[in-house]
Amino acid sequence: MPPKVLTSSESPEKSLKGGRPQKVGFISLGCPKNLVDSEVMMGLVARAGAELTSRPEDADVIVVNTCSFIESAQQESVNTILEMAGHKTSGKAKKLVVAGCLVERFRDQIRKDIPEVDAVVGTGELENILAAAGLAADRGRNEATKDSPFVVLPSRPEGDARAAQGRFSRESWDGAIRDLPNYLYDDSTPRILATPRHMAYIKIAEGCDHPCTFCIIPQLRGRFRSRRFESVVAEAERLAQGGVREITLIGQDTTCYGEEFGLKDGLALLLGKLAQIEDLRWIRFLYAYPNKITGRLLETIAQHEKICSYMDVPLQHASASVLKRMKRGGSADVFLRSIAKMRRMVPDLTLRTSFIVGFPGETEKEFEELCDFVREAQFDWLGAFAYSDQEGAAAYALGRKLSLREIERRRKHLMGIQRQISRKKKKALVGREFDLLLEGESEESELLLEGRTAMHAPEIDGKVFVNDFPEEMTPQPGEFYRCQITETYDYDLVAKIV
Ligand code: SF4
Repeated sequence: MPPKVLTSSESPEKSLKGGRPQKVGFISLGCPKNLVDSEVMMGLVARAGAELTSRPEDADVIVVNTCSFIESAQQESVNTILEMAGHKTSGKAKKLVVAGCLVERFRDQIRKDIPEVDAVVGTGELENILAAAGLAADRGRNEATKDSPFVVLPSRPEGDARAAQGRFSRESWDGAIRDLPNYLYDDSTPRILATPRHMAYIKIAEGCDHPCTFCIIPQLRGRFRSRRFESVVAEAERLAQGGVREITLIGQDTTCYGEEFGLKDGLALLLGKLAQIEDLRWIRFLYAYPNKITGRLLETIAQHEKICSYMDVPLQHASASVLKRMKRGGSADVFLRSIAKMRRMVPDLTLRTSFIVGFPGETEKEFEELCDFVREAQFDWLGAFAYSDQEGAAAYALGRKLSLREIERRRKHLMGIQRQISRKKKKALVGREFDLLLEGESEESELLLEGRTAMHAPEIDGKVFVNDFPEEMTPQPGEFYRCQITETYDYDLVAKIV
């Protein structure tokens, strides 16, 4: 898929007086957390007077916000940078800026190996996008400013312990700067949405203190830190006033939200507060850590109609021995009990998870445990990722690595099991009615419309195709409609508006 240059659903005002404003094009790779960083950088450059463009061939400055989570993501990032570098020779681009996780990991190498790159901006220095794009003087890393406070946050004891164990060390990474990223945007930071007008992500926390041995995100993004409660609420209110109807809260681990401020059940409190914002219709959160799901959180989801009965809990594996090697803990039994509790307390819960298949030393028996667990747990949505060896992650040093071929065989096998579960679950929805948020014309066919129900988080879950609506109606993107499910596929649904 060719890289998508971000377009904005907002029209920022130009503040440049005299001369043509710089045109800046952004490409955001990776997850929604990276997308929010791109939106913040878009807000910063627009406020500095630049014009945003969705056409790289028109851009004076091209920014590639990269992902470095796994090897395939790194490769996609490098390919995109090289493709965009072409616009400096064949197009009008004067500057190519690389931002994001790849910079934290390969800062020096990017500049050395890709001479077309004019500047790099790490995940902790988003404000430096201004200097990088030639829009303002470099304010320097870690300097507190009014708009984007680099606050010195209280730390979590868990994070202190991990730091002492060397969890965040980047010493072996050539060129990585010593300071860990500590940036966190705020409600006063300019941000331009690149999502459709009716939905937005809100990053409520950044970084991660967990010790998962396959993961380098803590080294890339820094220690866990939460945004202030009032800041998140203020941002949600402003977004709702601007027409946003659905908000998705994100962070590496949303369930730790507010712990360093001494907030108990911070996420539940935050959700309860956001549910009082009148213009919001759907609120959901992603990336829950399994052992951080409290009774209070489940009660809060069940209590408020606006909070979608939807949970995304990446479990990563189900075999106790693999989970131990992953340094995550838990087991199939523990997870099954916890899932039963979630389903008991939140009626009609939609449950999403993801697994890593082929972790070093994963035996046939351990893999079978995972398959049995998936058969039993009956998830609504499931993602399976092939284990990817990351230099700098503790699992890199583990022996008994599986071949790529075997890992892929297992991944396909697991997805085959889930396909059958999904097909059955989707079939059971035929005839039932749901609220549907219409997103617009379908990418599959211009004869179809496409939307989502509360069971579908933006961009990750299956689709709902709408092939019928009352004759007198002209359905509008961004509006909610009552729909009835008429047909189902393995993952997707077909509905009519009633
Ligand atoms: S919880 Fe584990 S997998 Fe998720 S970001 Fe933190 S260290 Fe990585």
